[in-house]
Amino acid sequence: MSRKIIMAGNWKMNLNPEEGEQLINDLKEAAAKSDKEVIVCVPFIDLNMAIEVAKDSKVHVGAQNMHFEDEGAFTGEVSGKMLEKIGTEYVIIGHSERRQYFAETDETVNLKIKAALKYNLKPIVCVGETEEQFDRGETKTIITNQVEKALSGLTKEEMKSIIIAYEPIWAIGTGKTATPEIADNCLFEIREKIKELYDEEISDSISILYGGSVKPANIKELLEKENIDGALVGGASLKADQFIALIDA
Ligand code: 13P
Repeated sequence: MSRKIIMAGNWKMNLNPEEGEQLINDLKEAAAKSDKEVIVCVPFIDLNMAIEVAKDSKVHVGAQNMHFEDEGAFTGEVSGKMLEKIGTEYVIIGHSERRQYFAETDETVNLKIKAALKYNLKPIVCVGETEEQFDRGETKTIITNQVEKALSGLTKEEMKSIIIAYEPIWAIGTGKTATPEIADNCLFEIREKIKELYDEEISDSISILYGGSVKPANIKELLEKENIDGALVGGASLKADQFIALIDA
């Protein structure tokens, strides 16, 4: 079973168009040589630049969020319809920072995934537990519930466009990476849940990423694990040398 291996950078609220252009140009050569799918998920104001600079290269471009409605009186929001119009390919949905700070719920995550699919965007759906939930041993319950609610109502055909990212909140930006064993086990549980909800073919073919303090020093041992199909990377995706090392790993 060969699944797509993905190295996705999440710039979060960093890099203006000028800084971003430089970074994407720096990534092109590594992306061209790599078997991995290289994705940069950029702030809205960088999207036009990123799509233009990345065209004719193997760098793919995504947004970090979207609204589920197509248009209307939603001040400050951007829709999937708008993202598709300018040529966006991917969109992160349900990042824990959106769940924590911007009232994202399992229900809005589900609505956004459906809206993204309607506009041919490939959702990178994030799930993950807090440190307290991890300490209480609730990880499996939390993340499989998040997965089930996020994917509610999606057809098998639609599942082919979905990427899942497991990002334990306690590992994001903290320097604390989940051990490869913990990460692999959580991805296994997510795969089992998808098998239960759909079938083995879908659960075997879906790319599931790990995220949380991924860096050149820990990527190899993570990628060696059977269930880990790549990474969603924050801090280390902002530095060309580090992200190139992750692409090359
Ligand atoms: P860090 O790699 O900075 O820990 O961020 C992970 C993340 O949240 C990616 O979406």
